[in-house]
Amino acid sequence: MPLRPVLQFPDRRLREVSKPIEAVTDEIRALAQDMLDVMYDEPGIGLAAPQLGFPVRLIVVDVGWTEEDAEKSPRVLVNPEIVDAEGKITWNEGCLSVPDFQADVERAERVRLRATDLDGNPLEIEASGLEAVCFQHEIDHLDGVLFIDRISRLKRSMYVRKRMKQLREERDDAASPTSEDARQG
Ligand SMILES: [Zn+2]
Repeated sequence: MPLRPVLQFPDRRLREVSKPIEAVTDEIRALAQDMLDVMYDEPGIGLAAPQLGFPVRLIVVDVGWTEEDAEKSPRVLVNPEIVDAEGKITWNEGCLSVPDFQADVERAERVRLRATDLDGNPLEIEASGLEAVCFQHEIDHLDGVLFIDRISRLKRSMYVRKRMKQLREERDDAASPTSEDARQG
């Protein structure tokens, strides 16, 4: 099956608040597998279900996997919730749903999370540094929040203008035949 596309800003579905998962069904397990396939293909270090258009509280994270031959050790978290956070860290973040942009974001340096795994077992996880940043970024997606909401208004509006221009250009390109098509026609 082809990989599911990642929704991109300003897709409104990225702004929805995702619903808790009441039971881990085969559909949820299949969605988790699709999310892992997309994350490793991009590659990214985390993905949230709403990025694939499913408004449910499910995230996958693997901060150790940075090269193609590195060992994969994904975390798949159902209904993740931050129960404790402390310290501050600034990280230069990017997002598969926010093309061609990175910016410094300040977040908690250490977090404690509760979630369940795909077998319904309760998990309690402590994370710091990049992993803590990644969990906070992905859980934000479940609440319809993007990292560009956490940067200055000026930087955000510069990005939004650039993105709108990019989308206009893509639309214009799609509307007019390319030189290739013209030759063939
Ligand atoms: Zn993201």
